[in-house]
Amino acid sequence: MARTGFHLSMGGGQEKAVCYASDAGCSTVQIFTHSPRSFSFSPLDVEKTRKLVSMWKEHSIGPIYSHCNYLINLASPDSKQFYGSVATVKKELEYARAFGCDYFVLHVGKHKDSGAQAGMERIAKGINSIKDTIKATKVMILLETVAGQGTEIGQKFEELGALIEMFDKDIQEYIGICLDTCHIFAAGYDIRTKESVEKVIGNIESTFGTKRIRLIHVNDSKGDLGDNLDRHEHLGKGKIGLAGLKAFLTHPKIKDIPMVLETPVDEDIDQVKDLKVLNGFFA
Ligand SMILES: [Zn+2]
Ligand SMILES: [Zn+2]
Repeated sequence: MARTGFHLSMGGGQEKAVCYASDAGCSTVQIFTHSPRSFSFSPLDVEKTRKLVSMWKEHSIGPIYSHCNYLINLASPDSKQFYGSVATVKKELEYARAFGCDYFVLHVGKHKDSGAQAGMERIAKGINSIKDTIKATKVMILLETVAGQGTEIGQKFEELGALIEMFDKDIQEYIGICLDTCHIFAAGYDIRTKESVEKVIGNIESTFGTKRIRLIHVNDSKGDLGDNLDRHEHLGKGKIGLAGLKAFLTHPKIKDIPMVLETPVDEDIDQVKDLKVLNGFFA
């Protein structure tokens, strides 16, 4: 069975967080290595992060995924924002390695009406320019599929496939995809029935390919098919529904990829409930 878990808040301290994830039954988790709404990083506490890495191992939780800061936009036509984003991604990779993360989930970016092609060229230029850090940290960058809000790049799988081709050959092994079930549904990929799931898998195979997918964000969707709304919902409470989510996630080409929930959290127990539903798909 696939490794499953949820986005883990580290706010209450790392010992508490790891024990909580373990008790809840997580075999993988996603974290933020710093505040997701600020470009500032607190200095690395080597002793503390070493302890964290050993705790992940002790509790058999892994792989660990780091999710990007929300302010990063590598597709931005504003050069200050572009270079700030490149510097932040570099730092993100170093922090991800220190926190024990083999993967870094990246929001691809918004071209802000400068055109998708120009935006994609900037993303590729930015990532190619930090290849030394990528190779040194060995952290794989996962491009996250998008709902297609505003000028987001990557609504179509073809676009993500084309973007991947724009990265230099010697870092191709460090580029993957994080597929979000809510986002692809909002972007117009119907995963509500076995038949439609088959079609979507075909779309993936003819573009970036299922082998590139190293993480699935499992979310139901508040918005409808093709609404371009990035609004996550508890499994079975949204417009995709349990049958569709199960058909997609248990598909032979998908079922072994690690899965992390990003469903709404009003109380801690919400994540635990959704994790039970997700694990139930494989029972
Ligand atoms: Zn994300
Ligand atoms: Zn989302």
